[in-house]
Amino acid sequence: MRKLCTAEIIAIGSELLTPLRSDTNSLFLTRKLNEVGIEVRRKTVVGDDVDDLIKAIRDGMTRTDLLITMGGLGPTEDDRTREAVSCATGKRFVRDDSWIAYMTERFARAGRPLTENNLRQADLLEGAELLRNQFGTAPGQWIPGDCTILMLPGPPREVYPMFEREVMRRIAGQAGGVAMHTRILRITGLTESYTDSLVGPIYKNLQNPSVTILASPGAIELHLRAIADGRHTADELIADVEEKFRQKLGDRIYGIDDETLEMVVGRKLQVMGCTIATAESCTGGLLTARLTDVPGSSAYLLRGYVCYTNRSKIHDVGVSPELIETFGAVSAPVAEAMASGVRSRSDADLGVSITGIAGPSGGTETKPVGLVYISVATMKRVQTTENRFLGERPIVRFQATQRALDMVRMSLSEESAS
Ligand code: AMP
Ligand code: MG
Repeated sequence: MRKLCTAEIIAIGSELLTPLRSDTNSLFLTRKLNEVGIEVRRKTVVGDDVDDLIKAIRDGMTRTDLLITMGGLGPTEDDRTREAVSCATGKRFVRDDSWIAYMTERFARAGRPLTENNLRQADLLEGAELLRNQFGTAPGQWIPGDCTILMLPGPPREVYPMFEREVMRRIAGQAGGVAMHTRILRITGLTESYTDSLVGPIYKNLQNPSVTILASPGAIELHLRAIADGRHTADELIADVEEKFRQKLGDRIYGIDDETLEMVVGRKLQVMGCTIATAESCTGGLLTARLTDVPGSSAYLLRGYVCYTNRSKIHDVGVSPELIETFGAVSAPVAEAMASGVRSRSDADLGVSITGIAGPSGGTETKPVGLVYISVATMKRVQTTENRFLGERPIVRFQATQRALDMVRMSLSEESAS
């Protein structure tokens, strides 16, 4: 069997050439291909123009072992991928009756008639294997040859499962190169330069895995990328360096790969059987929204208040008017009172609060834009931090929620250790 070492991806759709949509599918595909040792050498984006498409396919076929097209398999006139592959390869169509039966049944269930143009979706190219689509009517196609052609649909929710279920096993046995494996370590609460001062000496002279630091406000990612003959060896190379990083960074690493802080916090709350309630001023519900991004969060998130006004801070979570009068709404004592208040009023194990100045206006000499107080109240104590975040309003707000989630994470760790 011919080895697959290199791949090219053609993303098809005129919308991908506008400022409104970008080709995100190829990032997913590249990761999966790299894992089995197939190197992506070129990506092309082509509009819904059949001549452009034929040319792109012909060009690609001269260079690569595996040519992947994505998109343009729908039933409408602008979906020209089947036609273009047929022209580029000289292969005729063979209608797949089993797929027509599948579509007929699917449409009947939805109470809709199958239209003539849907039938074209069952047109396979000669020699193609049909790749089932669980979430749509366009099947993918796998056409082995000197250059193997893989045709995938466009919508991400169809592409991802199809690739996992139908394509990986076809590719796995034929992948010929070296495996590339990536691990992302996620860090918060440190600056990029400080992180680098800790881990730089470890990775400075490393080539395999290679290490890259990516920093954004409130989050740092360490990307470790190993290349080896097999997945197992690549994993070992990464595990070795990861261990050294963990010794330096300890609990500053909150998660790996695709994990978010809200997922990590949610998991801890669930495992410990703890509940949480929030009182947010300057973040206007963003913290609560992030907590509820995690499926199953109703198991631990009891309530979230947006306490934007003094009146709401007083009435909804029981901050005393005198406290606001004396220290101001943006102050450590008010943050503490909000966290304790929301905790007791909600009967939650943890109360968390945020009050600050997100900007761009509202700052003063003593209380500048970016000043944010965050409090976490537990049965044992109330912890408060004073933060000075830099950046535009959305960035200040995001960093505030990031810090709040991290404080919750740390107080849960303390709790479980004691
Ligand atoms: P299609 O029916 O194959 O033309 O694609 C339908 C929809 O899938 C498009 O409107 C896009 O929203 C999405 N889509 C197509 N190609 C891509 C891509 N490469 N990355 C992300 N989304 C895509
Ligand atoms: Mg399209």
